[in-house]
Amino acid sequence: MPSSPCRLCPRSCGVDRRAGKRGFCGETTDIRIAAASLHRGEEPPIIGRGGSGTIFFTGCTLGCVFCQNRQISQASTNVGGMGRTVDRAEFIRICLALQTRGAENINLVTGSHCTPVLADFLRSARKEGLVIPLLWNSSAYESLDALESLEDLVDVYLPDLKTLDPGLADRFFQAPDYPEAATKAILHMLDCRGALRWNGPSLVSGVMIRHLVLPGYPESTRAVLQWFADHCRGRALLSLMTQYTPVGEGRDIPRRYVKADEYDQLLEWLTELKIDDGFCQELVPDDSWLPDFERINPFSSALSAPVWHWKTGLLGCH
Ligand code: SF4
Repeated sequence: MPSSPCRLCPRSCGVDRRAGKRGFCGETTDIRIAAASLHRGEEPPIIGRGGSGTIFFTGCTLGCVFCQNRQISQASTNVGGMGRTVDRAEFIRICLALQTRGAENINLVTGSHCTPVLADFLRSARKEGLVIPLLWNSSAYESLDALESLEDLVDVYLPDLKTLDPGLADRFFQAPDYPEAATKAILHMLDCRGALRWNGPSLVSGVMIRHLVLPGYPESTRAVLQWFADHCRGRALLSLMTQYTPVGEGRDIPRRYVKADEYDQLLEWLTELKIDDGFCQELVPDDSWLPDFERINPFSSALSAPVWHWKTGLLGCH
């Protein structure tokens, strides 16, 4: 259970989630899930041959104003909160269904506000026969205490490093302490799983750091790449994401996609900083990839095969 009052993540809201109160993340101590699927829209080492067994949790400790998953991540607003409460038995059924259908891993998306209840569920799932690697896919806005509760469980860490600029973090996530919290969290992850290990094309242990390029904020990306080169090069993979798509409302949020000349600049920086272990996404031309969690398959059928949905529960074989 999260402590009461809740100080699980750096927000330190101090609400009594055990009594049903909701802090910034929008969730009580119940674990809510929006969807689970075999996903092919992640980086090659994450999807491997069988696809990534992705579980999308409802709620989020960060709440980016331009979040692509706002229907499920921004539960404290009127915009979102799609999801259904799952108990231990249902969570285990979801994990085992993903494994049975060929998932390379269980990819836990934005579950930081669910620890340590989630850690407890995962331990039970291991006892019930879950053997594939566990991926912790997070914003990195999480406390070391929360990460420590998962330490013996997580095989691959997949944290974001969104910005090192406290002003941008304040404007876009209401979290000026994001740079300090996220870099501490990532260094801790590197200490836990510093060596990259592979099984064929799949990453089975290690750290991959994602950075979403914000159009019009090149200095923010440059600082992140420099930090990666200084602290992570040779110890982690980098995934440079250029899929920013203008959704959401907020002061100064980019209203456009990444341009070709900005993309060329990124490639030059990667060369200059000698960062060659990882991935740079191709330019994304439109919003056709954006998920819609109202649909049983929130993504296109090319990207994802649904296994569980908040409206229906477990789905039949595909
Ligand atoms: S986990 Fe949620 S309630 Fe707890 S401190 Fe973080 S945002 Fe606040």
